[in-house]
Amino acid sequence: MRRLNWFNLGGPTKVFFKPNTLEELIFFLKNFSNSLPIKVLGVGSNTLIRDGGYDGVIIKLGKNFSHLSKLDDNTVISGSAVLDKQLSNFAIENSIAGLEFLSCIPGSIGGAIKMNSGCYDYDISKCIVSIQVVDCNGIVRTIKSEKINFFYRGSDLSDDLIFLSGTFKGKKQDGKKIKERMEKLLAIKKKSQPTGVKTCGSTFKNPTNQTQKKAWELIKEAQCENMKIGDATISEKHSNFFVNQGSATSNDMENLISLVREKVFNTTGIKLELELQIIGEKK
Ligand SMILES: Cc1cc2nc3c(=O)[nH]c(=O)nc-3n(C[C@H](O)[C@H](O)[C@H](O)COP(=O)(O)OP(=O)(O)OC[C@H]3O[C@@H](n4cnc5c(N)ncnc54)[C@H](O)[C@@H]3O)c2cc1C
Repeated sequence: MRRLNWFNLGGPTKVFFKPNTLEELIFFLKNFSNSLPIKVLGVGSNTLIRDGGYDGVIIKLGKNFSHLSKLDDNTVISGSAVLDKQLSNFAIENSIAGLEFLSCIPGSIGGAIKMNSGCYDYDISKCIVSIQVVDCNGIVRTIKSEKINFFYRGSDLSDDLIFLSGTFKGKKQDGKKIKERMEKLLAIKKKSQPTGVKTCGSTFKNPTNQTQKKAWELIKEAQCENMKIGDATISEKHSNFFVNQGSATSNDMENLISLVREKVFNTTGIKLELELQIIGEKK
């Protein structure tokens, strides 16, 4: 599954299923969901897949889940396989403000809903109206955002749900102004985070319930920036971004994560929690 995630890491999956239509997905869930564990992947920009691969079914939503449409003047519906950047661009083209932060996040809408992804004071919870989901029995339903408890990089939505689409609301504004704001956000992002490297973004959540300090500050404070295991390293530009320099294994990456977590705890007393999702079996 190396080609399915931003780290370019991980062993094979037992079954790989790419439904192109909702009917194919429902048929699969109704007939096979009891036989093996199922995991949906977006574009793998937040997922470390272990070297032993995944002993189950990896589902990646196909082309019919990549739709984008306008519901009214300031509301859009986006399929879960749409890239965050595509939704942001679509909103700008339609003069809808409030979704431009998505241009800074390299994932899919499905992944963004799952992670309540965000940056620069925006996140999914602030613009989502409802989501359409299918459960493991193949039953499709709509969940309104009032019924979802979103929190920092997560929500109380069940892990059994597959998100099919999301409805997002913004504010009507001049497209040029929105574009300017998007470019500002992208410039800040480019200055502070590495580009063109094999990373899954922030490894740890900011421990907001324990300290005001960000995870990257704690990693620096614990003097972990130069730590490495094999080709698993820490970005010089952003110490919460772990990087595969080319020939790291998932095991190297996971061991580096554990070492850093331990050193941060021993130095600062703060327990870092993973933002990254780790799936699969160790080799
Ligand atoms: C360079 C870089 C910068 C980043 N910057 C940010 C940032 O600023 N802010 C931020 O929040 N994140 C950031 N990230 C992390 C990542 O891009 C986000 O978490 C993103 O939303 C994950 O989307 P994905 O499609 O890659 O999800 P994946 O990694 O494929 O999956 C993540 C989780 O979502 C679940 N999932 C995916 N699709 C579905 C679906 N259709 N239904 C149900 N569950 C699903 C998966 O099962 C998994 O649990 C960054 C990552 C990188 C590499």
